[in-house]
Amino acid sequence: MENSDKTNVQICDTCCLCYGAKRALEGAINAKKQGKNVVLFKEILHNKRAVQTLTSLGILVKDNLSEFSTSDYVILRAHGEGKDTYKYLQENNISYLDLTCPNVLNINKLVEKMDNLGYKIILVGKYGYKTGKMHPEVLGTSKWCNNPIFIEDLEEVLSIPLDYDKYFLVVQTTFNQTKALKIIDGVKNRLKDKVFEYKNTTCSAQRLINEKSQLLAQKVDKMIVVGGKNSSNSKELFNNLQTIVTTYFAEDLSEVKALVKENKLVCGDKIGLTGGASTLIDELQEIKDYLLGALYE
Ligand code: SF4
Repeated sequence: MENSDKTNVQICDTCCLCYGAKRALEGAINAKKQGKNVVLFKEILHNKRAVQTLTSLGILVKDNLSEFSTSDYVILRAHGEGKDTYKYLQENNISYLDLTCPNVLNINKLVEKMDNLGYKIILVGKYGYKTGKMHPEVLGTSKWCNNPIFIEDLEEVLSIPLDYDKYFLVVQTTFNQTKALKIIDGVKNRLKDKVFEYKNTTCSAQRLINEKSQLLAQKVDKMIVVGGKNSSNSKELFNNLQTIVTTYFAEDLSEVKALVKENKLVCGDKIGLTGGASTLIDELQEIKDYLLGALYE
């Protein structure tokens, strides 16, 4: 293995932990350092490494509100929660720290406001149209209004009921931007005789990761997306990059090692590394160091 060109493995210059995810992770760690009995309400990030870091600090995860007691200091994660969660915690005198991403908080407030103004809310996002699994952010937002209309695929636009006078649409922050724009156009057309307002609330952090990763994908032979198997935005990134170049999805270093063992990554490959909004940059650096050592030294 003579080729030692370090540029053979490149990390995308805009990727990994977004502002909201970073804020949630650091907020939970700081609360623990202050001596609070920190308990997470559900996994804080779709990232194995982050969850392990928190567990090693003695931070527990509980999935049901009924499991909390007044001695817990509950952390609400970046994805956001429904109105019912806040009500439950307040009514039961359970203290909490709301680390919902400010972008998501704004969407939830807007949805509540427009619902109160009599608009029928259309929620574009992964509500489980085909998978039956609703994204936690969509679930949270849906609880700030009355019976929203969920749309995940363009084909569903034609079944939007026309019984309301005015409609307001928002989009899950990590939803595919191209798909969101097509759906918005479709809804405009469907509701051309109605009052229709919308806000494309896809997150710019997510968009930027996608755009920069796509640029890198055009310059390399193979891409690796590092992310949690249940991270919606990492999977989305993987799906997009696959259309440009051979792309592999890896949850951690051990899965990258397996790709090398299976000869899917070989010496001479120009490899690009990227990760979704819940991936830690340290993980990519570790993988880069490993690949340089395994393939090029
Ligand atoms: S992807 Fe955007 S909206 Fe979602 S947590 Fe990150 S910064 Fe917030």
